[in-house]
Amino acid sequence: MREMEERGQRSNRRLVLVPCPFQGHITPMLNLGSLLHSKGFSIVIAHTHFNHPHPFGFPNFTFLSIPDCLPKDVLSSGDAAAIFASLNTNCEGPLRQVLSDMMAQDGATESKISCVIYDSLMYCAEAAAQYVKLPSMALRTSSIGTQLIFSELPRLQKEGYFPAKDHSSKDPVPGAYPLRCKDLPLFTSDPEPMMRLIATTLDIKTSSAILWNTVDCLEKQLSDQVQKKYHVPFFSLGPLHKVAPASPTSILEEETECLSWLDKQANNSVIYVSLGSLASMDEREFAETAWGLAKSGQPFLWVVRPGSVRGSEWIELLPEGFKEAIGDTGHVVRWAPQKDVLAHRAVGGFWTHCGWNSTLESISEGVPMICRPCFMDQNVNARYLCHLWRVGLELEGDLDQKEIEQAVRRLMAGEEGKEMRLRAAAFKDQIKLSIEKGGSSHAAIEELVNFIISL
Ligand code: UDP
Repeated sequence: MREMEERGQRSNRRLVLVPCPFQGHITPMLNLGSLLHSKGFSIVIAHTHFNHPHPFGFPNFTFLSIPDCLPKDVLSSGDAAAIFASLNTNCEGPLRQVLSDMMAQDGATESKISCVIYDSLMYCAEAAAQYVKLPSMALRTSSIGTQLIFSELPRLQKEGYFPAKDHSSKDPVPGAYPLRCKDLPLFTSDPEPMMRLIATTLDIKTSSAILWNTVDCLEKQLSDQVQKKYHVPFFSLGPLHKVAPASPTSILEEETECLSWLDKQANNSVIYVSLGSLASMDEREFAETAWGLAKSGQPFLWVVRPGSVRGSEWIELLPEGFKEAIGDTGHVVRWAPQKDVLAHRAVGGFWTHCGWNSTLESISEGVPMICRPCFMDQNVNARYLCHLWRVGLELEGDLDQKEIEQAVRRLMAGEEGKEMRLRAAAFKDQIKLSIEKGGSSHAAIEELVNFIISL
């Protein structure tokens, strides 16, 4: 009864969520919205026009579109620092306006905005909230391990370790265990604008808390270490896709028929291959991957995102003879329902680019990984997966079909793979306990709800 009354009161409290417009960021923010909605809060998603989330699946949310005026040439440059600078500059004014309008409407009613929760890459939301005198909180969608090394980059730059001179060097980086030179975040463009962007996102200014899509059984020690640098509470709420009611968060359409293909495969037999929503490969790498998978003899489900093979629309550059060689052993899709795929009994391994969402989704289902990071924080995640948590094996150097074939065999059929699968299964169990009553994420969620009410 008391619970119901409290919920009723909370529905007058609105939370304005500001996602960053990329798949790996939209998903955790929408999941956070679903989670907080299930706790009784009203949810408003203030999103950009560019890469806007789909409102279907969230009938109880209010979606407000913010003009981002992102110039086409900035977007097509692929220059992350320039894209985020432009997004933040262009969105701050419209966000202020949206918040002021909502507050003016609230004047005559019982409802009020409790706070603004923004992806730390959309730091303009903190400024907009401060301008209209609303509290704000930052959501970090990457790992705490990444945040830790990001905060060390200025020091490492001074000491000559960053950007790494040799991206294949396995020398340890002083004060950055377990990272080696090759594990430092890899920026594809000039590091200076990225360094400025990172420094801006690390400074939470007036925000009252930092919310993390992570879980103590993976990152508690790191969380304690990073928390010392801040004077606000941390809430490790994740994995958000596990604690939130299931909802469709994909921008691209999911090809769900691949689940029927998986139904026909033996337990733990399929290797799932996906490089996430941004990474790409060239024609040679594509051909090596195709033959490596084919020659491994292992069934595979391969996501080839349209445009992810440079110079082609989709799979036109598949090598001749490949389709005949694989028959029904392999299945290629444009975009998969990844969480369902990883939870499927037939999937026994994941070749991943080690994006943080993919990392969490795989560990949560006890699926061991072949780690092939591409850029930014993916190198850091790969190192944690392979060295600390020991649920992944590294696929290094230039992509080569022989090495791919061997890596797939090691993971899917070898002794090493078996051990990694056992460790991943143990993490799956620990994560399950973390999100149940008495677990760390469960407790953090309750604390966050009370914290929001106290604002
Ligand atoms: N994803 C998906 N279907 C696919 C490939 C990826 O649903 O075919 C989802 C995946 O479940 C994850 C997100 O896209 O939630 C990718 O985020 P991640 O942080 O792993 O990588 P990013 O795309 O940001 O590089």
